[in-house]
Amino acid sequence: MSFLPQVTLKEILAPAGQGRLVGAFNVHNTEFILGVVRAAENTGRPAILMINEKVLKYGRLDCLGAAALTAARGSEARLAVMVDHGTDETFLKQALGAGMDVMYDGSLLPFEQNIRNTRELVGFAHRLGRCVEGEIGVLGLQEDGEDGGPARLTTVEQATEFSARTGVDVLAIAVGNAHGAYPGAVDIDVKRIAAIHGALPGLALVMHGGSGIPPETIRRSAQAGIVKFNVATDLKTAYITRLQQLMGCQPPPVQPLELFPPLAKAVEEEAERKIRLFDGEEDQ
Ligand code: 13P
Repeated sequence: MSFLPQVTLKEILAPAGQGRLVGAFNVHNTEFILGVVRAAENTGRPAILMINEKVLKYGRLDCLGAAALTAARGSEARLAVMVDHGTDETFLKQALGAGMDVMYDGSLLPFEQNIRNTRELVGFAHRLGRCVEGEIGVLGLQEDGEDGGPARLTTVEQATEFSARTGVDVLAIAVGNAHGAYPGAVDIDVKRIAAIHGALPGLALVMHGGSGIPPETIRRSAQAGIVKFNVATDLKTAYITRLQQLMGCQPPPVQPLELFPPLAKAVEEEAERKIRLFDGEEDQ
C-alpha cells in the first residue's frame, strides 16, 4: 500500500525561518489527526503530523499511518507526515516506503553508531525522494515519558560533523529543551541555537519538547534559527482534560459521537493556538 502526502519535511520547512516556525504535532488517533488537520486548514498555515514510532507500531502503518497520510493528501492545507523518534530501522524503511518522512533517533547511541545508522537511512530515504530528521545531543526525558538518562547539550562541532557525515535533511538539537512538563524554570540556550545555525545556515533545526515553553522564548528560539517546533504534551493535556470533563457528566456519555467530536475540537483549538503563535501572531 502506498500513499503520497503532499509535501516532504524539507519542502514544508523551506519557507520557515526569520522567526517563522512550522508546528509539528504528535497525533495518536483519529481525533488528534482531525484536530491538527482542521487547525492547519483554519489558519491557512502548514503543519506536520508526527506519529511516535511506538504509537505507530500499535496503530499500524496500514491503519493509523494510512489515516494520517490520507488526511494530509486530501486536505487543502500543506501537511507533512512523519514518524517521530524512530529507532527500528526496518520499520522506518517500511514507513518511508509507504510515503512518510522519518525521524531517526540515535541520540542514545555512541556518536559513530548514530552517524552510521542515520547515514544509511538517509541514503535509503533519498533514493525514495523522502527526508530524514536526525538527532544529536540528549534531551533526557523521552516523548513517551521514558527516562533517556541525563541531558547532554549539542555542541556546534558535533552538529557540524553529524550533518556533514550523515546528510540529514533536518536536525534535532538539545539546547536545554525537554519532553513533557518542565520540572522547573525553562532554560533554553538561545545562544547555542544561534551558534549552531550560524555554522549550518542551510540546515533546518528542530526544537523537541515544545510544550510549556513561554511565547517569548519560542520567539527568540525562532529568531536564532529553529524552524520546526514539536508539540505533544500540550495537545495530550487538552485532549485528556476534555475527556475528564465529559466523563464527569452524569450519566457519562456512551455514544462515540458524543465523545469523539468534542475531543477532536479540544485538539483543534490547542493546535490552532500554537500554529498562530508559531507564525508570529500575538499570544492567544
Ligand atoms: P512535548 O511533549 O514536550 O511537547 O515534546 C514533543 C516532542 O518533542 C515530540 O518529539
